[in-house]
Amino acid sequence: MIEKQMKIGIISLFPEMFSSTIKFGIIHKAIKKRFLKLYFYDLKSQVDTYRKSIDDRPYGGGYGTIVMASPVIRSIYSAKKKLGKNSKVLYLSPQGKILDQNSIRKFLKEEVLLLVCGRYRGIDERIIENEIHEEWSIGNYILSCGEFAAMVILDAIARLIPGVTNCYKSTEKDSFSKGLLDHPHYTRPKTIGGLDIPSVLLSGNHKKIEIWREKQSLGQTWLKRPELLKKIHLTQRQRYLLNLFQKEYKRKSR
Ligand code: SAM
Repeated sequence: MIEKQMKIGIISLFPEMFSSTIKFGIIHKAIKKRFLKLYFYDLKSQVDTYRKSIDDRPYGGGYGTIVMASPVIRSIYSAKKKLGKNSKVLYLSPQGKILDQNSIRKFLKEEVLLLVCGRYRGIDERIIENEIHEEWSIGNYILSCGEFAAMVILDAIARLIPGVTNCYKSTEKDSFSKGLLDHPHYTRPKTIGGLDIPSVLLSGNHKKIEIWREKQSLGQTWLKRPELLKKIHLTQRQRYLLNLFQKEYKRKSR
């Protein structure tokens, strides 16, 4: 018996795009283990017989077309009827807040999410004003449609649902979970391309290995994403380990 099942509705012109996403990997596992249930709402089924389209030219002129309000709003209502009127409705949009690991963790607290995938030059603004609770972006670039962004959110959520992965604990050690990047990883063989693995990893001393990993995690963050270090409060021990990493790094790069 599972504790909680998360329900996610997806409003899309091409729900078929999700078929391989749900067949493999972590999303597939989450669905199979019934931690996650997906509901697809095909905008094509909401096309009105008179217009025979879901998009139309922009008022005021200009290039491209805009997804019309009615098919999207009808889909949102139909999804809410099935999934509950308290469903949180998110629009995937380059104008939204940039997604990060914290926002994914917050989504996990919702029982129902409804993801609206836009297309063409976007959706009629009145949908956003009347029906959308939050706009979320997966980065400062433009995709042709919201479906890819929705898949990113699905994957990021699915792997954080306790019970979905065999090693849930490892998700707590992933980059961004505690504001830092993950430490480097190595597996067999011991030597490749003239490079050995750090000897501490063969020491069998778990305490030493933990300290090495913590130092690396701080060091990698300093090297690759220094701005992240400004957002967290480092303990005295972390400051000491980072200092050690920096000294070793500088010595090696001389
Ligand atoms: N004209 C819009 C603008 O400049 O803000 C872009 C429209 S885009 C070509 C079509 C759809 O792709 C959007 O409605 C949105 O659903 C999705 N999309 C594009 N980039 C995205 C991003 N970075 N994050 C999330 N969704 C995105």
